[in-house]
Amino acid sequence: MEVLVRDIIKKAEEKLKEAGVVDFAVDSWLLAEFVFKINRTGFYMDPMMTVPKERADKYMELVGIRASKIPLQHITGSQEFMGLDFKVNEDVLIPRQDTELLVENAITYIKSVKGNVDVLDMCTGSGCIAISIDRLCENAKVTAVDFSEKALVVAKENNALNKADVTFFQSDLFENVEKQYDVIVSNPPYIKTEEIESLMDEVRIHEPMMALDGDCDGLKFYKKIAKEGRQYLRSNGIIFFEIGYDQGQTVPAILEGNGYKDIKVYKDLSGNDRVVTAGKE
Ligand code: GLN
Repeated sequence: MEVLVRDIIKKAEEKLKEAGVVDFAVDSWLLAEFVFKINRTGFYMDPMMTVPKERADKYMELVGIRASKIPLQHITGSQEFMGLDFKVNEDVLIPRQDTELLVENAITYIKSVKGNVDVLDMCTGSGCIAISIDRLCENAKVTAVDFSEKALVVAKENNALNKADVTFFQSDLFENVEKQYDVIVSNPPYIKTEEIESLMDEVRIHEPMMALDGDCDGLKFYKKIAKEGRQYLRSNGIIFFEIGYDQGQTVPAILEGNGYKDIKVYKDLSGNDRVVTAGKE
């Protein structure tokens, strides 16, 4: 028996909406693309498209899982970032579109430099920042570290999947870092502890807390990375931070307090402060 795709997607949308999934329409589509191997263009060309009942049942099973607030990316197993595909699971933060601004800034700088640029990605998680920089900048030599061994397993897999050449190792911040770099890039945990409880279920329950919790003021990692990072940055070195929407004053102040110069703040597509860059000298 065959089922109309448009009927089954409608049913999925209703189910997700009822469950309180914010992006119910987008997610029912993305799951349909995932299960039926279809795309929107094909669907609009053939609005009476059908799929076998067994596929429709499989789709509704995944819709049910999504309705229980499991992130879409944990169901499909991946997330696109900077045009590359990244494997994700509960051990890593799912790459966010906002973070592309951090990578774009770092890439623009790295490409403007003649010769090789040594880059350190601090708190790499899935490896998406390090791997994108490595793939998109021929002159970047990228090293990436994380506290979590489990995250590093995923990051190394992503390195291989994307044919990148990043060096990964475990380190509690700079503990095991031994040399100086031209660039330090980081999207550290920056959510204030008291704000964790108001995060969406998908994030709060299913993403690693250690990748989110930035302590009571959300600034713990910026303070440590800015302070300790100075000795791991060459004299012309630059630091690139992703920040929370309300940290556009506090993080520059931390950098200034640690002697950094030429501090700049960049806004994301929603108009929120999202990236801070600063030079060591
Ligand atoms: N931007 C992420 C969120 O809103 C947080 C990322 C982080 O703490 N580095 O969930």
